[in-house]
Amino acid sequence: MRLAGFDYRRDALYCEEVALEHIAARAGTPCYVYSSRGILESFSAYDQGLAGLPHRVCYAVKANSSLAVLALLDRAGAGFDIVSGGELFRVLAAGAEASRVVFSGVGKTAPEIEYALDSGICCFNAESEAELGLIDALAARRSLRPRVGLRVNPDVDAATHPYISTGLRQHKFGIALRDAEAIFQRAAQWPHLSLEGVSCHIGSQLLTAAPLEEALDHLLDLAARVPAVRFLDLGGGVGVPYQPEQQAPDVTAFLTRVRERLAGHDLFFFIEPGRSIVAEAGVLLTRVLYRKNSVAKEFVVVDAAMNDLIRPSLYEAHHEILPVRRPARGKILADVVGPVCETGDFLALDREMDNVLPGDLLAVATAGAYCFVAASNYNSRPRPPEILVEGLAWRTIRARESYPDLIRGEQV
Ligand SMILES: *Cc1c(COP(=O)(O)O)cnc(C)c1O
Repeated sequence: MRLAGFDYRRDALYCEEVALEHIAARAGTPCYVYSSRGILESFSAYDQGLAGLPHRVCYAVKANSSLAVLALLDRAGAGFDIVSGGELFRVLAAGAEASRVVFSGVGKTAPEIEYALDSGICCFNAESEAELGLIDALAARRSLRPRVGLRVNPDVDAATHPYISTGLRQHKFGIALRDAEAIFQRAAQWPHLSLEGVSCHIGSQLLTAAPLEEALDHLLDLAARVPAVRFLDLGGGVGVPYQPEQQAPDVTAFLTRVRERLAGHDLFFFIEPGRSIVAEAGVLLTRVLYRKNSVAKEFVVVDAAMNDLIRPSLYEAHHEILPVRRPARGKILADVVGPVCETGDFLALDREMDNVLPGDLLAVATAGAYCFVAASNYNSRPRPPEILVEGLAWRTIRARESYPDLIRGEQV
């Protein structure tokens, strides 16, 4: 595990220059807290790592799509990888330019494609011939000729969790590598688009960069055979360490190898990291409500639940849970559970942790990516607020939902 923008001062956990106890007292719990410095440093590792190569780092919006986070990255020079019309709406609402947006996704609808065409996005990553046909038809009506990349499936095993592995032949994503060349040969079928790139995204949370480099080699092979290819898009970034002993690939070293491979090729390069930009720069703050034990188990009941952070329940993801004030009351072995009426509602199982008491604050680490974005109102629980820290300053970038928010749009 690594914290980006958080550390202990004496025995209290801080985000940049602000004590998390202070934020919890003002904003209440549960709440998400993000470090702008942590986000920007992770973004820079990619952007600087590709210096000298014509490139754009397109932040994958789905990892954390809060407007303030998007605006922060926009000011740092990021582009954006979107997978829906809603994400395009967010990027534009954050003040970013459509010309920096790449549109990926296996099931783009006609209204979404029209919205992207009318907004003037940078390019589409198309995932089937049928989609090429639809983009072409919709662009023809507008007399446009959008830039399009073909998402290929390099059949590389990302060796990650099956739900977030996407680059094998049997997965729904992209076009088989061996069919790609023929599609480029038939590009004249689609006069209202310019097929000029190849993209892939083999999966998320990769703890070694080797599969990404293997995928890049496949894209380069294809580019060598197809002169129309002017850009490559390698998809998502590297994984992050969630467990104490886990180690993630070094972004700078990985991108040095990418630059070496691309040297001498006249190709523009896109990469679309999401998780590795924001995950380590976020925590979920939660307060202990009760301690409880049954014959078999010790429970720490907290005010955050699976509706706030679903990753442990959904794919047994591990998140470190840190005391916001180190209590030094010894250790316990406990399940950390929330108030939702599901046995699957837990943040940690059989975790060795500090001997916390009701009222203590905990920080669920590595919660900046794929956490708030997957929050729900299950059990009619209002979603928590999000807070962004910048040095000594902090502000609420998304308010806690209220009870009236829960029934918005409903009728008896
Ligand atoms: C999810 C996704 C990403 C981001 O992946 P990370 O592992 O979060 O870096 C990038 N590109 C595409 C097409 C995606 O679906």
